[in-house]
Amino acid sequence: MSAGRPSSRERGYTMKWEKARAVFLAQPGNQICRRCQAHGLLNAGNLRPNGSLQTNPKRMHLVVDHIVPHKQDQKLSWDHANWQPLCPDHHDITKQQKEHGKVRSGTGLDGRPLDPAHPWNQRPA
Ligand SMILES: [Zn+2]
Repeated sequence: MSAGRPSSRERGYTMKWEKARAVFLAQPGNQICRRCQAHGLLNAGNLRPNGSLQTNPKRMHLVVDHIVPHKQDQKLSWDHANWQPLCPDHHDITKQQKEHGKVRSGTGLDGRPLDPAHPWNQRPA
């Protein structure tokens, strides 16, 4: 296998993923970020998790997140029940949380997310 160039198998995988991803995100119910939705925000990629307008055109979309990291497990990787639509901000946050293994879900008494990494907690008071 030559270095620097993706193998046809890798290209096939990417194309399969791109297709599956597009189909998933086009399905009703998958057109808004799950985590924004949990906070009552309907974000189709046009907003940031704090409700302000997304101004970065490169981030105006939703991404498919693996709820449980698949770690090259094919079955888990392609299991739609393990997929969720997220805005890029929430995708970054969940990725960080998974990597550092310190997920803080839920909200405090003031209604703010407990997670200090949540953008709501980055917003100037
Ligand atoms: Zn979101």
